[in-house]
Amino acid sequence: ACLDQIKKAESTIHAYVTIDREGALKKAEEVQKKIDEGKLTGPLAGVPVAIKDNMCIAGMRTTCSSKILDNFIPTYTAEAVKNLEEAGAVILGKTNMDEFAMGSTTETSAYGVTRNPWDPEHVPGGSSGGSCAAVAAGECFYALGSDTGGSIRQPSSFCGVTGIKPTYGTVSRYGLIAYGSSLDQIGPVGKDVTDCATILEVIASHDKKDSTSLDRTDCDFTSALVKDVKDMKIGIPRDYLGEGLDPEVKEAVLAAAKVLEEAGAVVEKFDLSLVDYAIPAYYTIAAAEASSNLERFDGVKYGYRAKEYEGLHNMYKKSRSEGFGPEVKRRIMLGSFVLSSGYYDAYYLKALRTKALIKQAFDKAFATYDVILGPAAPTTAPKLGESLGDPLKMYLGDIYTISCNLAGLPGMTVPCGIDSKGLPIGVQLLGDCFQEKKIIRAAYTYE
Ligand code: GLN
Repeated sequence: ACLDQIKKAESTIHAYVTIDREGALKKAEEVQKKIDEGKLTGPLAGVPVAIKDNMCIAGMRTTCSSKILDNFIPTYTAEAVKNLEEAGAVILGKTNMDEFAMGSTTETSAYGVTRNPWDPEHVPGGSSGGSCAAVAAGECFYALGSDTGGSIRQPSSFCGVTGIKPTYGTVSRYGLIAYGSSLDQIGPVGKDVTDCATILEVIASHDKKDSTSLDRTDCDFTSALVKDVKDMKIGIPRDYLGEGLDPEVKEAVLAAAKVLEEAGAVVEKFDLSLVDYAIPAYYTIAAAEASSNLERFDGVKYGYRAKEYEGLHNMYKKSRSEGFGPEVKRRIMLGSFVLSSGYYDAYYLKALRTKALIKQAFDKAFATYDVILGPAAPTTAPKLGESLGDPLKMYLGDIYTISCNLAGLPGMTVPCGIDSKGLPIGVQLLGDCFQEKKIIRAAYTYE
């Protein structure tokens, strides 16, 4: 049924970069056999999934939506995907994204744009736009995305689906093509809170192959699927409701807070300091890490190599010039600049200090509140082409999502309404580190 829906929807939506029809059908048969024999019993056995194209799968083309990895076929599988495979998941293919996960609209992909299933004139958000659009269009039952600064939560909001970015270190990054390693986390995108909690429980694991992987014993996320918030205190940062927020988004988010209040939670507004500094700190740190992570794409070991060149340095230069798109080049240049001697202290170090202060501000907030509630994005999905010409404006759209990554917190988006243009709105719930269960419980109660 998913493959049929892909056939129907893909010509308009283009959620996938690679569709593995034969592989999926073969795997489905194998899994069915194991289910019949009672060897596979988990909730994900036989359920079709789509994987964002920055996660390696052995033998399946993995492009990161970049020309530079056009011909890349990994020899190993990302740990999160391996966990799904062991649970009997059927992988349908790889979803489109912003090139190297840099962007908020899925328009910077080298393989064409993905369109929003609610209205194809609009973007699906990004960078996990393909994953979220595929779920929204019924082209899979759930998907994996990655979130460095909002890339699961913002497109979930734009596509009317549910997505979780777990506490940093909960899901292994092994096999996830790195963007900003200190911020990157893999998470589920699904149709509802139950699906997301179930998937997260399967993909979370301690992995020695990722040095930042956590050994958690509290990953029984489905135990939090309880409709009860009577013991909860929920804070809404005033700073998340101010200038730049679309009035319709504000109204829907406050209505969601009201539902939780009526269910017994205490809901209050409070001042979360340093919100204005999150964007400059994030773009400095993310670009710095990206400039270092993307050094490996040099045309030597794998990936695209320029056809004509004179000598080694010229080969590097031409391969990278031809292989990377403009947004990736912008970030490599910005990142190299903020890390260069003479500017390191003024920009990179200052950004790290700001990151530490942002974490402190959240620590203070979570001493009072169980959950922080707010919008996932200032607006609903913009029209195609609207954001590309003005990168600064696009960066500003990440205001509500990026602090969560800087502080390593878990966050999730749940649909909370539809605007007058017929586009979905999402409410974002943030929790303290390791407190996924609180946000899952609040989201489940709301839903
Ligand atoms: N929009 C942000 C960026 O472009 C976040 C991307 C992400 O989370 N991967 O960096």
